[in-house]
Amino acid sequence: MLLSNVTNELSSMKSIRAVIVTLAAFATLLIGSYHLSKLLSRDVQAQDPCCTPPILPAAARFPQGAYVNVYIDANTGFTPTEIQSITDGLQSWNGQPNNSNVTYHVTVTSNLPPPGTNNTIIVSYVNEYSSSTGGSQINMYSVGATTYGEMKFFENIRVGNPSFLPTYVRTVARHEGGHGIS
Ligand SMILES: [Zn+2]
Repeated sequence: MLLSNVTNELSSMKSIRAVIVTLAAFATLLIGSYHLSKLLSRDVQAQDPCCTPPILPAAARFPQGAYVNVYIDANTGFTPTEIQSITDGLQSWNGQPNNSNVTYHVTVTSNLPPPGTNNTIIVSYVNEYSSSTGGSQINMYSVGATTYGEMKFFENIRVGNPSFLPTYVRTVARHEGGHGIS
């Protein structure tokens, strides 16, 4: 009786240990797959930080030689540094040998043209974090002979070492501008 009690206790201790080991293994797997999925999603974003997958047959773009007025909405909360970076990034396409001959002319205004005005981009700041973009996105539209874009920047552009942020904003703005011409 006593012996069998000891044996039972031993075997129940063994099974408790087995449960703990199993739980630990599951926890490790869970944490591991979480990090893996983070890594994978970061990889996907690194390929194209801004965009929803292109809509077939082809995303809209400005016609060759278009003079595009880009209006940064002064009422959405951009800082002067962000405005400078966005302006630099977009206008860095101008005069480049890329066959588009599109010119981006950037102004800051609180007096925006109506949405959908031909050869315009309206740029606004959205004060929330975007988990599906790298911090910016552009939607290009083509309706009959009218082409226009809507560009948004999210709170992501304020996350990180402040000394790197202007370059980051310039880079993502340039990237988005590329979608308007190619
Ligand atoms: Zn993109």
